[in-house]
Amino acid sequence: HTSSDGASAQVQLSPTPRRRLEETGVVPIAVAYGDGIGPEITESVLRVLDHADAPLSYDVIEVGRSAYERGITSGIPDEAWDAIRRNRVFLKGPITTPQGGGYKSLNVTIRKALSLFANVRPTTSYAPYVASPHPDMDLVIIRENEEDLYAGIEHRQTQEVHQILKLITRPGSERIVRYAFEYARAYGRTNVTCMTKDNIQKQTDGLFHEVFREVAREYPDIESDHQIIDIGAARVAAQPEAFDVIVTPNLYGDILSDIAAQIAGSVGLAGSANVGAQVAMFEAVHGSAPDIAGRGIANPSGLLVAATQMLVHIGASEVAQTIRNAWLRTLEDGIHPADIYREGVSKQKVGSEGFTNAVIDRL
Ligand code: NAD
Repeated sequence: HTSSDGASAQVQLSPTPRRRLEETGVVPIAVAYGDGIGPEITESVLRVLDHADAPLSYDVIEVGRSAYERGITSGIPDEAWDAIRRNRVFLKGPITTPQGGGYKSLNVTIRKALSLFANVRPTTSYAPYVASPHPDMDLVIIRENEEDLYAGIEHRQTQEVHQILKLITRPGSERIVRYAFEYARAYGRTNVTCMTKDNIQKQTDGLFHEVFREVAREYPDIESDHQIIDIGAARVAAQPEAFDVIVTPNLYGDILSDIAAQIAGSVGLAGSANVGAQVAMFEAVHGSAPDIAGRGIANPSGLLVAATQMLVHIGASEVAQTIRNAWLRTLEDGIHPADIYREGVSKQKVGSEGFTNAVIDRL
């Protein structure tokens, strides 16, 4: 009845962001400030991008709470879908998902409607500048983002029996596994580990693992191995520094990436990319943190890291590196927001604005 589920929007696509950067020197992106701490951290990140002369222009769109309140059940008005599809690059502040009602998760809606098949979550320890029990941890989880138990095939058979169907396809598995190997090559990583539960789920996870073995043969320069997800997750918790790139189906990746972010030190430091063939969306790993919203104390780092992933994606790697270096120097200088402030490690406790100013001073 409406295109607000994103499925039927017809929009003229712009050239790829990389081509646009080469041809015009500027890439327009869709930006949503989000809910809760979203506006505070988005403002911080845009200030850093502007001071670093990032080659971007902003198409600010409304998604999330105010859209839900206007009765748009997807949380995304038609104009916002158009802007995301047109610009092909989307920097998104966290959104509060209304509890109950018929509301679907906005993230799941966006991932499905735009076919953002790869969720890329680097998790790195910043020790000794940020306290972390695993100083050498530096892994990337590449999570399949559309299939598995998130395909939405769920129903009630009787009052007492509810059923969900797990969907794993050969094309979907091939696409994500190949993405993981290409990612490893592009970023100089040497090992890709596949994690499934194919000893039990022989058909579905069995297919994912089989495709992994096939695709791995095409990349003789990259080491590969497979681990059963339960013991693999235990090893990530005990010895995360032993992993490089991990590729895994949707639900395992969802759980494992949150555990990994926590092991690395704080969810406030992690960014993520949701990548599709036409569009890519960049966001912090964390949510809208309503408990601290409006107090000026949120750590903008997660969204800033996501913004540097975005700059690399559009071909502006030098600006990404400049921003990353300034951010790392801020952490090294002990200038820390409350979530990562630790006596003995940190030197100065700052709010969102103080942290942002410190990053800008170091550009
Ligand atoms: P959350 O990540 O928002 O917060 C968890 C805890 O971490 C809170 O104590 C919060 O104060 C803290 N925290 C998170 N980010 C921080 C930051 N940048 N700086 C300092 N502290 C930070 O998780 P939640 O409370 O479970 O979820 C709140 C809302 O966010 C929910 O509506 C949820 O649906 C939504 N959510 C959205 C996204 C997204 O938009 N991608 C992701 C996760 C959750």
